[in-house]
Amino acid sequence: MNSQMLILKSGRCSWGRCIFCGYGRISGYAATSERVTSDFKKFFDEIDKDTDVVKVFGSGSFFDERQVPLESRRYFTRECKKKNLAAIIESRPDFVKDLGDFSGLDFTVAIGLEVADDAGLDEVKKGFHLADFERAAKTIHEAGGKVRSYLLVNLPFENDLDKSVEYALKHSDSVVLINLLPHGNTPVFRDWLNGEWNFLTKEEFAKAVEKWSGNPSVEFDAETFRFVPKFPKELQNDLAGVGEEYLTHPYFEVWQDYLCRWYKADKGTALFLPCAHHKPYSQSRTHQNIIRVLRETRAFGKIHEVMLSNAGVIPREFEDMYPFNAYDWDERLETPEIKNRYIGVTKKRIMNYLAAQKYKRVYCFLKYDSESYKALEAACGELGIGFENLLARETYEKIKNEKSPMQSEAALEDLRGRLMETAMGD
Ligand code: SF4
Repeated sequence: MNSQMLILKSGRCSWGRCIFCGYGRISGYAATSERVTSDFKKFFDEIDKDTDVVKVFGSGSFFDERQVPLESRRYFTRECKKKNLAAIIESRPDFVKDLGDFSGLDFTVAIGLEVADDAGLDEVKKGFHLADFERAAKTIHEAGGKVRSYLLVNLPFENDLDKSVEYALKHSDSVVLINLLPHGNTPVFRDWLNGEWNFLTKEEFAKAVEKWSGNPSVEFDAETFRFVPKFPKELQNDLAGVGEEYLTHPYFEVWQDYLCRWYKADKGTALFLPCAHHKPYSQSRTHQNIIRVLRETRAFGKIHEVMLSNAGVIPREFEDMYPFNAYDWDERLETPEIKNRYIGVTKKRIMNYLAAQKYKRVYCFLKYDSESYKALEAACGELGIGFENLLARETYEKIKNEKSPMQSEAALEDLRGRLMETAMGD
């Protein structure tokens, strides 16, 4: 079966209270019948000819008329029937009522059951109980449809996954076990920040669900959406300062956890770079010069730029995300103690990051007397990994007393020369 996915813009979920989901906090979009029908039309106009199944993913319930107005929904079912397409849609049980317009259509309704006991459903703040789910499942089956149940793995409270799977299989035609990953503005995200809960890596998730791997009715979803720590506005505190609080702040720590346990760099060569006062870093003079040299030598895009700062190890692609674009560590306020602490913390972060990423080559472009260089040297030493500073030590000795040595032509000439010689491509 060839399926095609439609990510439908459908605005705010009218329930919106589940502890891991931010779809109730979507603002600024009203799902009018003109808008939704026009999105359906565009989708059907462009659909691949060999498609058999349409999977619709929205931000709530397909059967909620505030999200998918009835007129749009009828257009959708008409088009599916006309084109002989099966449909998979999602809904809360409370919106599963009159399914007359689905008659004659091969359809499946996916329901976010999450956990199969009433106390657990209350903890998740689902706003329904098993009896509501069973009523909806019966309505769907009576209308000739199939039921697909989503269950969450690794909920932040005691629950019996075996029991949930057994229950879901009894009432559904298929079950999807989903790795719980929180949206930013949710209680589970806050639990992560507070150290009260942590996500499962893809490997940990696979282990947690492996006993169902031979069951044809059970599917697995390790990453339901592109998981990146996204801090909502109300959590975005001022992180300007120097000291332990600004070195091991929980916001920095969850990012390092994410970068080591979830993120996978897709390049074979790392180039560790200094941070900059100007944010995002790529807008600073130092980084603009570095980027210019990377472009000139065709290393740009092939080499992975990774910054080192008190906020942690920061791959270039995340530099404009909070808190990396918002902290401010004034070097003039550093004490010898905090410098030492910086070296220790950064060394550990680099070790964890490098162990997780498995680059083939490690380079840097750092001042030899910087704490970041010392941390990198210590980390690579302890890991037994070779690395090279693309700024020659002799050059640095000559320029180190200049106002901005990393912006000097001599430093950039070293970077340019070594990039050319090493031909950074993967
Ligand atoms: S999980 Fe579903 S019901 Fe709960 S808030 Fe999100 S979209 Fe709404």
